[in-house]
Amino acid sequence: MQVLENISLKSYNTFGIEVKAKYFAELHSDNDIAAFFSALTPESMPVLILGGGSNVLFTKDFEGSVACIRSKGIVKLMEDEKHVYLKIAAGEVWDDVVKYAVDHGLGGIENLSLIPGNAGTGPVQNIGAYGVELKDVLYSVEVADVVAQHYRAFRPADCEFGYRTSIFKKQGKDRFVITSLCLKLDKQPVLKLDYGDIRKELEKVGIKTPTISAIRDIIIKIRSSKLPDPSILGNAGSFFMNPVVSADEYARLIQEFPHMPSFKSGDEVKVPGAWLIERCGFKGKRFGDAGVHKDQPLVLVNYGNASGQGILALAENIIASVKEKFGIMLEIEVNVF
Ligand SMILES: Cc1cc2nc3c(=O)[nH]c(=O)nc-3n(C[C@H](O)[C@H](O)[C@H](O)COP(=O)(O)OP(=O)(O)OC[C@H]3O[C@@H](n4cnc5c(N)ncnc54)[C@H](O)[C@@H]3O)c2cc1C
Repeated sequence: MQVLENISLKSYNTFGIEVKAKYFAELHSDNDIAAFFSALTPESMPVLILGGGSNVLFTKDFEGSVACIRSKGIVKLMEDEKHVYLKIAAGEVWDDVVKYAVDHGLGGIENLSLIPGNAGTGPVQNIGAYGVELKDVLYSVEVADVVAQHYRAFRPADCEFGYRTSIFKKQGKDRFVITSLCLKLDKQPVLKLDYGDIRKELEKVGIKTPTISAIRDIIIKIRSSKLPDPSILGNAGSFFMNPVVSADEYARLIQEFPHMPSFKSGDEVKVPGAWLIERCGFKGKRFGDAGVHKDQPLVLVNYGNASGQGILALAENIIASVKEKFGIMLEIEVNVF
């Protein structure tokens, strides 16, 4: 492990924001993680753990140590009649894990194809797409507790998973460094086809009895056509979460805005943030190099040289407009530093 000084983070965040880290290290193993934390001094604090940088917005230089998790390894831990348990190092690229599972005929994560970032970051916001969330297939999460200075494992019930959140995003944020995951995958995959355009796309290509491999291909096709590729246009996926409102609040909203789309979410109602942002006139708008994507208003983009402050100012402007028009407070999904 080598600790470097004064390193640009531009290529380490998918927004492509130019900021510097005072200290920077890539950690390739659990030993590197332990060595890194034991070598910290008051001068090299605080610490920011980074995966693929696809869910962060840097608004200033980081005056501490940035540690990029790069550990690799996918190992079959055990297997029973119905499941295979895979242990995955935190630094594996998530989509490589999905490809591995699909190539080995293991079902459960094919709908999560092409989500950028590290496997180890998945539990932080309980990644989800096309009707599947990581918590659905997670068996355990192994972490280094850098406060108590020991390793421990979390079972899903202890992770406080919710919609784009977990204990690792809240009170465990600066305490637990995820070192590996164990996924419980199906030997006889149960396909989830009822979300978004999956069925429509399968029909289009004439697939009547889909496999997990076909689902993966379809999801990749849909996502590639809808979401901007960060290597071409800087972004961090959805910048905001879809707001969830109470049934009473929804009754008020639908009276005033009869065309407002919505989805049931337990006893509450989820409202598409994209619709709210579009109604406030932000869809496709550009302010200098910071902008709102032309097709996906939940996605903020960097046209080249936007600053993190510029992106954040745009986000705050959107939040204020949505609050004023609908009385709904949008919450930022991306981790802002
Ligand atoms: C084009 C695009 C599409 C996306 N689509 C989706 C989607 O469909 N669904 C979805 O849920 N997300 C989506 N995202 C968001 C993002 O891909 C996920 O949140 C992903 O899990 C982030 O992984 P990362 O390794 O890049 O995290 P980073 O951005 O590196 O880190 C995110 C947060 O996790 C913390 N962290 C990172 N690694 C660890 C670790 N090992 N232990 C503890 N904390 C850690 C960081 O400190 C930071 O606070 C999308 C992003 C993009 C750019």
